[in-house]
Amino acid sequence: ALEAARGAVRFEEVTFAYGTGKVILPRFTLDIPAGQTVALVGTTGAGKSTLAKLVSRFYDPSQGRVTLDGVDLRDLASRDLRRSIVMVTQEAYLFSGTVADNIALGRPDATMDEIVAAARAVGADAFIQSLPDGYSTDVNKRGGRVSAGQRQLISFARAFLANPAVLILDEATASLDIPSEKMIQGALQTLLADRTAIIIAHRLSTVAIADRVLVMEHGQVIEDDSPEAL
Ligand code: ATP
Ligand code: MG
Repeated sequence: ALEAARGAVRFEEVTFAYGTGKVILPRFTLDIPAGQTVALVGTTGAGKSTLAKLVSRFYDPSQGRVTLDGVDLRDLASRDLRRSIVMVTQEAYLFSGTVADNIALGRPDATMDEIVAAARAVGADAFIQSLPDGYSTDVNKRGGRVSAGQRQLISFARAFLANPAVLILDEATASLDIPSEKMIQGALQTLLADRTAIIIAHRLSTVAIADRVLVMEHGQVIEDDSPEAL
């Protein structure tokens, strides 16, 4: 098995088309050093989600390669890939089951102490404790209903517990109230520390905490700079 990944991600001359359709990414090259937080922004259809899906190996390039620490993703064992690269999407925030099950999704071996520690780290512990059955609350049951912001926090706790070298986040577009927004921002900073992160960013506050902002258009990077410079 692979040793713990450092998290450097590279696109090397990647061309990608969905099936026989038009080319979405034409000879796309990008170097993301380990530990960097990259915010991806750009118009709808620019190819942001496609790029994220190539890193999580939802799809493979038509030509060229995507590498993790120099290794072609296609050459990684699926277990190593799943452990090293985690994608958090807006659709997949919660599954049926308890709050604890939801946090431990990628880490079925996790102890309750680890689950609670992950929730604490991202600031989700307090509201979870206040649910009718705490961590045992069924998220689909009456009374177990959680708000949009709380759902995101639970998914952040899940990602924190999984502790991948590379985190890909397709940020939710749904607007949150201001306290939730602040909570999410704080949680995000904790979550991004010490790992590579690629965030499809919909919030200015997220762009501001990135090390680097990539503006995409028609499958190409048209600007690549620090948030301050943009
Ligand atoms: P948005 O901001 O709207 O999420 P995006 O930058 O994420 O846009 P992508 O979803 O990567 O854009 O889409 C890039 C292009 O690929 C678009 O032209 C889109 O229509 C096309 N596309 C996306 N998914 C598929 C698919 N499953 N099959 C065929 N074409 C697709
Ligand atoms: Mg998208």
